Amino acid sequence: MSIEDWTPFHEETIKDILREWYLVPNTDPILRQTALEFDALPIFLDMWSYWFLGSDGSVIIRDVELGSGDTAIYTDFLKRASALTAGVRRYPRLRLLLPQRPRDAVDCGCVGIPIMERVVCGTCGGLRWLQPND
Ligand SMILES: [Zn+2]
Repeated sequence: MSIEDWTPFHEETIKDILREWYLVPNTDPILRQTALEFDALPIFLDMWSYWFLGSDGSVIIRDVELGSGDTAIYTDFLKRASALTAGVRRYPRLRLLLPQRPRDAVDCGCVGIPIMERVVCGTCGGLRWLQPND
């Protein structure tokens, strides 16, 4: 899932989900502001920062805990996979955007470890498989 694998279908799906999200009353202005600024869907809060998935496939991570508003933008496979697999819990339609497991992929080491069912694996981004060259 390189950046060129992000298709207009991916972009439209994010925009669709985002349009629905805007209709839900939200008390946190930083979420709405970041969503508008980056055309990005709020995904989840980790310990210090909020993750967003942009309609262009980028992952935007904004500090909310310390209030600095520091923002980092990522376009790598692992961050995007992590945002998608985490986001599926909240937005089931994101399942349509998950990368297909290549035929020559291998299981990640997290497969079969119960606690890893509840967190996003830092090795595979929650996909449970790795590309042979990873
Ligand atoms: Zn894994």
